[in-house]
Amino acid sequence: MELLKGKVAVVTGGTRGIGLAVVKSYLNNGAKVVLFGSKKESVQKALTELKAENKKYEVEGMYPNLTNYAEVEKAISDIAKKYGKIDILVNNAGISAMASIYNYNPEEFDNLIKLNVNAVFYGIRAVAPIMMANGGGVIINTSSMVSLYGQPAGCAYPASKFAVNGLTKSLARELAADGIRVNAVAPGVTDTDMVANLPEQVREGIKKTIPLGRIGTPEDVANAFLYLASENASYVSGEILSVDGCART
Ligand code: NAD
Repeated sequence: MELLKGKVAVVTGGTRGIGLAVVKSYLNNGAKVVLFGSKKESVQKALTELKAENKKYEVEGMYPNLTNYAEVEKAISDIAKKYGKIDILVNNAGISAMASIYNYNPEEFDNLIKLNVNAVFYGIRAVAPIMMANGGGVIINTSSMVSLYGQPAGCAYPASKFAVNGLTKSLARELAADGIRVNAVAPGVTDTDMVANLPEQVREGIKKTIPLGRIGTPEDVANAFLYLASENASYVSGEILSVDGCART
C-alpha cells in the first residue's frame, strides 16, 4: 500500500545517509519528493542513483543555503508554486563534531548551531504558512539519541539536538490548531557517512552498548519517518521517537 500517495515532500540533507533512505521510502510510497543537498554535485549524484533505481520516481533536487533564510524561503515558495502545496517537510540536514570544550573553536560551535538549529527553524518558518493555508501538514525533524542525555565530548551537537526537541515540542503545540503535526525522530548510531570512519574496534564497542545488538541502518530510521509522515500517525504530535536499538541509558 502506498502510504503517501499524492503527497508532496521536501527532505533536507536528502542526498545520502538517513535523508536519502527517507527520500526512497517516501518515493516508494507514492510521494513526490524534492530533496535538498549542500551542493549541485551531490544533488545530481543522488538524483542519478534514484532515477537508475526507478525511472518513475517523481523527484527533483535543490541546493539552497540552509543557513540563509532568504534562500530557504525562496526554495520552499518555488516548490509550493510548482506543486500547489507542500504536505511534508523533513528537516534532516545536520553535522556533528566531537571537539573537547578545552579546544572548541567558537566559530565551529556557531556553524554547527546554524545548520542543526537555525536551519530547522528557517524551514518550519517558511513552510508553516503554506501548510496552514492548505489545511495542514506534517513536519519531522531529525534529532538524536544524544538529545536525551548528552555526550562526553562535542557539546554543540547534543545541545543542537536538545534545541531541535524544544522546537518540535513547542511548535507541535503551536501548530496543532492549524492541522500541522510536528514530531522528531531520534536515531541511535546509524550506519552513514557520519559514522563510517570509525575503526572496527570502536564499532564493536558501540554494538555492545546496544541491547538489540547491532548498529542501525538508514532504512531502520526511514521507517519511523514514513510512519510519522503517514495517516497512521494522525493522532501523534510533539513526539521524539527513538530509533536506537534500545541504546538509551
Ligand atoms: P550524512 O553525513 O550521511 O548526511 C548529512 C546530510 O546533510 C547530507 O545529505 C548533506 O548534504 C547534508 N548537509 C551536511 N551539511 C550541510 C550543509 N551545510 N548544508 C546543507 N546540507 C548539508 O549524515 P546522516 O547520518 O545521514 O545524518 C542525517 C541526520 O541524522 C543529521 O541531522 C544527524 O545529526 C542525524 N543523526 C545521525 C546519526 C548517525 O549515527 N548517523 C545519529 C543520530 C542522528
